[in-house]
Amino acid sequence: MGSARARDEVLGVIDAQPCFMPGGELPVPNGDAVLAPINRLLDGRYCAAFATQDWHPPGHHSFASAHPGRAAFETIGLPYGPQVLWPDHAIAGSAGAELHPALDQRRLRAVFRKGMDPAIDSYSGFFENDRTTPTGLAGWLAAIGARHLFLAGLAADFCVAWTAEDARRLGFAVTVIEDACRAIAMPLPGGGTSGEAARARLGAMGVAFARAGDL
Ligand SMILES: [Zn+2]
Repeated sequence: MGSARARDEVLGVIDAQPCFMPGGELPVPNGDAVLAPINRLLDGRYCAAFATQDWHPPGHHSFASAHPGRAAFETIGLPYGPQVLWPDHAIAGSAGAELHPALDQRRLRAVFRKGMDPAIDSYSGFFENDRTTPTGLAGWLAAIGARHLFLAGLAADFCVAWTAEDARRLGFAVTVIEDACRAIAMPLPGGGTSGEAARARLGAMGVAFARAGDL
């Protein structure tokens, strides 16, 4: 067991689901490499830990298959803003949408599912992508007295990044545990990858970065 951390420090495990790992429907490169460091961090050192779980109805609006003539990884405009179209993934109740069977769930106090509205995607653990519909995570964190979130999981440049951004906006201190995350790293039109862009954005918002072994 690692050394105990402050009472207001909470670990968030973002979308550690088989659908986002090699062999899954929307695999993040080396996505399964997050499981070992996350399990080590779930050794009781944090006073609480939660997970998020991407959980979509069939035909969800974030799926390329719901938009005839469109391909996965294209970006389209939806009423709430630009939306990357994804392969079908995280269908509620499917094996790929479960929390990964190798994830040590014994110390996960709560699980927040997101993306259940067929018309709105949800990257952040706090709000759907309209940036207003809450998941309940913020209220839960307030109720347990959390002030500092440590985030790990998938994907670093989408659901981890959006969760970190919302946490900063809500006034939490945020540390992203980089070696317990993996990015999709989509190439961007102007050069670089979505992973690099997300890291720069988070840094500018005051997000700290750490390695699991240093915590
Ligand atoms: Zn999704």
